[in-house]
Amino acid sequence: MIGGNHSIKIQSMCNTKTQDVNATVQQIHKLTECGCEIIRCAVPNEEAAVALGEIKKQITIPLVADIHFDYRLAILAMQNGADKIRINPGNIGSIDKIEAVVKEAKARNIPIRVGVNSGSLEKNLIEKYHGVTAEGIVESALDKVAIIEKMGYENLVVSIKTSDVLMCVKAHELISQRMDYPLHVGITEAGTVWSGNIKSAIGLGLILNQGIGDTIRVSLTGDPVQEVLSAKQILRTLGIRKGGIEVVSCPTCGRTQIDLIPLANKVEELVSGYDLSLKVAVMGCVVNGPGEAREADLGIAGGIGEGLLIKKGEIIRKVPENELLNTLKYELDHWSE
Ligand code: SF4
Repeated sequence: MIGGNHSIKIQSMCNTKTQDVNATVQQIHKLTECGCEIIRCAVPNEEAAVALGEIKKQITIPLVADIHFDYRLAILAMQNGADKIRINPGNIGSIDKIEAVVKEAKARNIPIRVGVNSGSLEKNLIEKYHGVTAEGIVESALDKVAIIEKMGYENLVVSIKTSDVLMCVKAHELISQRMDYPLHVGITEAGTVWSGNIKSAIGLGLILNQGIGDTIRVSLTGDPVQEVLSAKQILRTLGIRKGGIEVVSCPTCGRTQIDLIPLANKVEELVSGYDLSLKVAVMGCVVNGPGEAREADLGIAGGIGEGLLIKKGEIIRKVPENELLNTLKYELDHWSE
């Protein structure tokens, strides 16, 4: 369920060829394991639409079919088990074609995500608002929603996307005041893992922190696993999701006495495999390290060639530097809250 008081769901999109069922299912399993809750697949042709049926049988999370241009693919995707379809009614064609899609969705009670992108904003709206603007994007989305509502269907999710972060924030603020449908939120074409993460964190942070948004996707030019991990981190940072292990680590400085940067990265990788809710601190020296580590549930403060192991505020023992990672692993394996 999405919308209302349901939790904000994390989505991602496969970058495999949908018709390659094995590769797609494998990627969905990987994404599910790291926290993806809804998955979208591109449906550019008939083969991909038909493949959804086989994919559906092998996965455990809802499957969304992403359709552009061809209304028949939307219908075929629904007939093959898509749990939701994503269309931009603006590029599906005539009203008759949209109606045929809505009719099929209605018969199966399949939600339609009405997606509008700033890149495909109608000419008349660009002229009306003197360029691509938040107001124009919102009007475009509301027009599409009205078309489907007139056809008697309201099982809808709306997404309005633009790669301009502040315009995207404004558009979400405006649309949330004008309709009650669940919103799928994301910064589109955000960029590579580095820049996309920053843009998405700022954009999604500003939107979600106002209580707007029901599902999210972090779009990155990279492995979709990274999208899911980033989405989780954004929700946790905002206090929307609880649980999981939070790693705090110092930035290192001239006082750092252990090889901290690789260690912190390894610790972050290590903790992703645990279903625990706690804070782990990885600090470089005994000046600030013990204080910070004491506030965490589990911590390391580096000394010369060794580290202090700190547990629930108490210094437990000194551990040689090359055993620090294994020691943390042992503590996590035997953790009792
Ligand atoms: S914890 Fe120590 S090593 Fe890390 S930044 Fe602070 S002073 Fe430097």
